[in-house]
Amino acid sequence: MPSVISIHNLNHYFGKGDLQKQVLFSINLEIYSGEIVILTGPSGSGKTTLLSLMGGLRLAQEGSLKILGQEMNGANKKQLTQIRQQIGYIFQAHNLLTFLTAQQNVRMALELHDSYLNENINTVAAEMLTTVGLGNRVDYYADHLSGGQKQRVAIARALVSRPSIILADEPTAALDKKSGRGVVELMEQLAKEQGCTILLVTHDNRILDLADRIIYMEDGRLVD
Ligand code: ADP
Ligand code: MG
Repeated sequence: MPSVISIHNLNHYFGKGDLQKQVLFSINLEIYSGEIVILTGPSGSGKTTLLSLMGGLRLAQEGSLKILGQEMNGANKKQLTQIRQQIGYIFQAHNLLTFLTAQQNVRMALELHDSYLNENINTVAAEMLTTVGLGNRVDYYADHLSGGQKQRVAIARALVSRPSIILADEPTAALDKKSGRGVVELMEQLAKEQGCTILLVTHDNRILDLADRIIYMEDGRLVD
């Protein structure tokens, strides 16, 4: 199986000089195509930092981190942008724009891609919302949706451009058990259909069984 993400001896630091603090220690990790991986561990252990590095949202400082074959340590702006376009992001606080409708929020993800300029992106966005069960909420403002519905819009937004990788940071944190599982199950089902790899950060024990593989992090290190 090809590696989608390949990490060797990755270290990461916050701050400068005397205030510098190391938060990731010698991380080695391979994520393979089509896998559903859950990264878990205590709060403050470095999960979000590692996830943001794997999403090209933060620059790799020391060691090697390859995303879809592209070395991110020393990557230029153009390379970063190209990598980010192949990744769908889902965050804890859904990050929807509340003054836009569900459809407009999903559309925005397509407007960033040149390859969709010739398609009717309104139709594509509405179809994706139907797929996540929100066909009857297309014109609702994000503010007027429940927590679970907002997170489903966030999934639609992340998947609509058919990314190779989905990165999700605590996507169930604001949801009750039933809608939390529902959201992750939906994400998995759609990702499998698209052949997409999922990396999900959580300390929600209720969804660990949905992973192909669980990785545990403690004090900035991956532990067995
Ligand atoms: P987790 O997601 O597992 O809760 P984080 O990756 O958010 O952990 O944080 C790991 C460590 O890095 C923590 O000690 C946190 O306080 C610190 N940290 C996170 N972000 C920053 C930042 N922007 N500046 C300084 N320290 C940070
Ligand atoms: Mg975190």
